[in-house]
Amino acid sequence: MGRQFFVGGNFKMNGTIKSIKDIIQNLNDAKLDPNTEVVIAPPSLYLLLAREHLRKGLEVAAQNVFDKPNGAFTGEISVDQLKESGITWTILGHSERRVILQEDDKFVASKTKAAVDGGLSVILCCGESLEQREAGKTIEVVTTQLKAVADKIQDWSKIVIAYEPIWAIGTGKVATTEQAQEVHAAIREWLKKEVSAKAADETRILYGGSVTEKNSSELAKQPDIDGFLVGGASLKPAFVDIINSNQ
Ligand code: PGA
Repeated sequence: MGRQFFVGGNFKMNGTIKSIKDIIQNLNDAKLDPNTEVVIAPPSLYLLLAREHLRKGLEVAAQNVFDKPNGAFTGEISVDQLKESGITWTILGHSERRVILQEDDKFVASKTKAAVDGGLSVILCCGESLEQREAGKTIEVVTTQLKAVADKIQDWSKIVIAYEPIWAIGTGKVATTEQAQEVHAAIREWLKKEVSAKAADETRILYGGSVTEKNSSELAKQPDIDGFLVGGASLKPAFVDIINSNQ
């Protein structure tokens, strides 16, 4: 069986009750490719609102989750709290959290393990900075980030990998289809060597970084690009076109 196409919308710290309801209404009313899995990630304050309004079959993701079950962790949300609220996914390791909030590979891996063990699915982000790319370190950076996770878990069936070059995020500077495909293929090769042939075959690898309805169809044609994690464009009506870009 082929890998099911996947499109995630990462709203980041954007939106209001009204604008998020409008985005959801637009998705609920749209004709979406039934073969594409769709997940939206609003700010945590709006997770319940999103779950309540979003039609069945479309899922909601948190943008982060903590690696402890409960207790004195001000500002954090647990895996069980998400699950109880009908939130089935979480994004982890986004570069904005790695860079701005200084989350390291080990912490991201620990949270990924807690999420997967607790029954959540994870969009696990990885990606290099422009400086690292120019130094020829892209594959090394990305596989080091992934290895921290592979050190803690064997079963990758609840993980979707999002390759997001930092220099392409929110910059309008999308990676070329060749640049993206090259890294995706390297990630798949790494999965085959370091995890299993099954994980390499079955794990979806998304591309993220300035994806729009204008570039998504071309990217979707690449053999190792199994979908997208979309930031800015997920807030716009054209998100529907990105969801439908694999048809
Ligand atoms: P962007 O963000 O689509 O706005 O570049 C992608 C992301 O950070 O997930």
